[in-house]
Amino acid sequence: MPFDNPGQAGTARRSEWDRRIRRTSDLAERYSPAAEILTFYRHVLEFQRAIYQEVSSRAALFDTVPGGLRQQLDATICMRHLPALLELVAHNGTKKLRQDGQELQALSPEQQRATLEAFLASPPEQSHSFFARALVQPYAEWLAAAYPAQPPGSSGSACPVCGGRPQAAVLRPEGDGGKRYLLCSFCLTEWEFRRVLCPSCGEENHQKLPRYSAEDLKGIRVEACDTCHFYVKSIDLTVDGRAVPLVDEVAFATLDVWATEHSYKKVQPNLMGF
Ligand SMILES: [Zn+2]
Ligand SMILES: [Zn+2]
Repeated sequence: MPFDNPGQAGTARRSEWDRRIRRTSDLAERYSPAAEILTFYRHVLEFQRAIYQEVSSRAALFDTVPGGLRQQLDATICMRHLPALLELVAHNGTKKLRQDGQELQALSPEQQRATLEAFLASPPEQSHSFFARALVQPYAEWLAAAYPAQPPGSSGSACPVCGGRPQAAVLRPEGDGGKRYLLCSFCLTEWEFRRVLCPSCGEENHQKLPRYSAEDLKGIRVEACDTCHFYVKSIDLTVDGRAVPLVDEVAFATLDVWATEHSYKKVQPNLMGF
């Protein structure tokens, strides 16, 4: 989505955070097994929206740098929001996250910052920290708006903006069918990707790319690969146009259970850790 000025991008994407938040409530009502995780995720998204609002009000940030988006992330900005995130997790988080939060809280500010910087410097496949990811996602999404989401000729499985790994596949209506995109786990950019192609190893033989969907869950499925044994979940907007990929991917964890039981490994765990 090209924008002529940062204000335009900021407004459009702020409303995207509202849409994500609304979707957690809609899904929690319709799909009770996910109600608890979606309630927590709603709190996290509200927190992330506040970060997004702060960074997007600083128009000077809206620029690209030669080293790329990751070089632009300022740990000081993220650190300002850490106390609020720790408080949110202490009140609403899972037992495991509350424990992790207490450990993080016990560190000195310098050590906390070093933890965040280590996350930013680590290769994408090792970037699993809930706290670092929650802080960085909205900031990275804002910075990503300045970069071309699909440079000509790019079709790789790493995010063309930040090099991140895909969180999910998304099918968007196009003509009579759907076009496939991958959603970046780090900066939330979507980029176009071939429909019959493994985003982990590049397998393109459709017989080695099994699909699995649950009877009662329309519009979301597992897209696995029998060559590398990785999978992503795919959200099909041609089936449910109200789906919000980032949120729907978190809600339907039963498909992750199925995939794990069948010895597939996720390309990238989501923010909630599965
Ligand atoms: Zn990215
Ligand atoms: Zn593969």
